[in-house]
Amino acid sequence: MKKYCGSCEASHEVVVSNDVREYKIKETNVSARITILKCAYCGNEIYDKANEIENDIILFDEYKKKNNLLTSREIIEIRQKYGLSQATFSKILGFGLKTITRYENGSIQDSTHDSFLRLLREENNFILLWTIKKHTLTESEISKIQSKFFKQDVPSIDYEFKEPCYNKPYVTITTNGGYGYDGH
Ligand SMILES: [Zn+2]
Repeated sequence: MKKYCGSCEASHEVVVSNDVREYKIKETNVSARITILKCAYCGNEIYDKANEIENDIILFDEYKKKNNLLTSREIIEIRQKYGLSQATFSKILGFGLKTITRYENGSIQDSTHDSFLRLLREENNFILLWTIKKHTLTESEISKIQSKFFKQDVPSIDYEFKEPCYNKPYVTITTNGGYGYDGH
C-alpha cells in the first residue's frame, strides 16, 4: 500500500504497526493500541484521515469507559438493535442527526444524552418514546418499526368498513368474512 508522505513529499510504501499510545483527553489519561502508518522510506508517520477517525474512536472509547459513558460502539448497537438509520434514530431521540453521527464517530456525549440513550436500551422505553415521536417519522419509517415490534403480536383486526348496498343503505363487512346489515 502506498500513501503520500508529507515529509518526503512523495508517495511511498507504508509500514503498518499497532502501537500502544497514551493521550490525555479532558484531564483523563487514556492508553490504547492504535494503528500507526509510517513511511517505509523516511520512517515518519503518515497522516491518513480514515485511520485517524478509527484511532479517535478507539481512544475516545477508552475515555468513555473510564468515565462510565456509553462507548461509540454501544451507541451504534442501541440504534442497530431497533434496525434504525441514523436519520430515523435522531428523529426519535430529538438530538439532531449531526449529534448522533458525532457520538457514533467518537465524540463524547453529554451525560444527559448518555442517560437517555441508556434508558432506550430497554425496549419498553423505546416503544414509549417511539409512540410519542411517531408523528415526526415518514410512513416507511413507521412501517419498518411496526413490522419489527408488532409482527408476532398483531391484535385481531376489529375495524369495519361500509360499502353502499343495493337495497339497504349500507352493508357492513367484518374482517372474518361475515356480512351484516346496519342496525341488525
Ligand atoms: Zn517519507
